[in-house]
Amino acid sequence: MEKTETKLLKIDRSSFKETDIDEAAGILRQGGLVAFPTETVYGLGGNALDETAAARIYAAKGRPSDNPLIVHIADVASLKELAKNVPEEAYALADAFWPGPLTMILNKKPCVPDGTTGGLKTVAIRFPADDIALALIRRSGLCIAAPSANASGRPSPTTAQHVYDDLNGRIEYILDGGPVNIGVESTIIDLTGEKPLILRPGFITREDLEKVIGTVEYDKAVVSRVPKANIVAKAPGMKYRHYAPKGELVIVEGSRENVARYINRRVEELNAGGHKTGVIATDETAPLYKSTTVLSLGKRTEEKALTHRLFAILREFDDLGTDHMFTESFYDTVLSEAIMNRLRKAAGYKTVNADEEI
Ligand code: AMP
Ligand code: MG
Repeated sequence: MEKTETKLLKIDRSSFKETDIDEAAGILRQGGLVAFPTETVYGLGGNALDETAAARIYAAKGRPSDNPLIVHIADVASLKELAKNVPEEAYALADAFWPGPLTMILNKKPCVPDGTTGGLKTVAIRFPADDIALALIRRSGLCIAAPSANASGRPSPTTAQHVYDDLNGRIEYILDGGPVNIGVESTIIDLTGEKPLILRPGFITREDLEKVIGTVEYDKAVVSRVPKANIVAKAPGMKYRHYAPKGELVIVEGSRENVARYINRRVEELNAGGHKTGVIATDETAPLYKSTTVLSLGKRTEEKALTHRLFAILREFDDLGTDHMFTESFYDTVLSEAIMNRLRKAAGYKTVNADEEI
């Protein structure tokens, strides 16, 4: 791939003017690529209706071309331009959660190229809640196709530095709006089947969705605790290895005491063998671990903030050269599906039950 000069522009959220975004918007209109913050993770944007721009996104990320892109819009009216047979539920969900971290899968109109949807007849659409993202969409006058702005397979980027580390020299522009709020990607709901189906868990939970449209189910592949050969994820992207840190990550389940005892024992063995170890814990449990690097997701009591540092921590362990990591499990929090889905993928589903190992 040819090397591109990557410009990074810091944007002060409290005082920026929409015209500050014009240079980036112009690059998008010319078919270029611009990374930008959203409330979930940083996105890598290109013109959603331009097949060549979509192809450049795949190339920059090294992303398999059957993995479709989410199209970002800045008003509900754009739904109709991109999708046909939009059901009532879509408008009810838009009313309740947009702008916000919810992506809807709908039947696509012909104007959306196959290059953007990975050849699918459906399109993923989201109206993000981030002033910089919205300014970029508005100033460019485009719908913006944007997957997460990481190199394919790496943890999703939650700061502009993460984007720079992965994509410097491969994209034209990065808008730096500081660290993101939520830290995991949007919830994806498929509204094209018989029943509404969650294809990816996120900050908007099943319970949140059910309050608005009634019964919603999970795609079995995204909540399964083990990879099942006979279940293929409905969102093409969910079948790929993802979020992978460079070292090995193992999820440890069980009582708090047994988890700490098991991890401390393994850490001791690994340290003795010359390995570099680390633990993903919370503020409450961090003091239980000895002789290792402990990074905390935050307080268990602040459940909705536990996703915030998840991907950043995986990248931090990479930077530290950690080759063996352990993480506590998070089954009893409101965002447990969102957190555990990411951790299972990062760990390649490797899980140990400490209650049985002690
Ligand atoms: P990312 O852009 O990195 O957040 O990934 C986008 C996710 O949305 C991937 O898991 C895609 O497979 C999924 N996705 C995008 N468009 C569709 C679609 N039309 N049908 C099902 N899943 C989709
Ligand atoms: Mg991604």
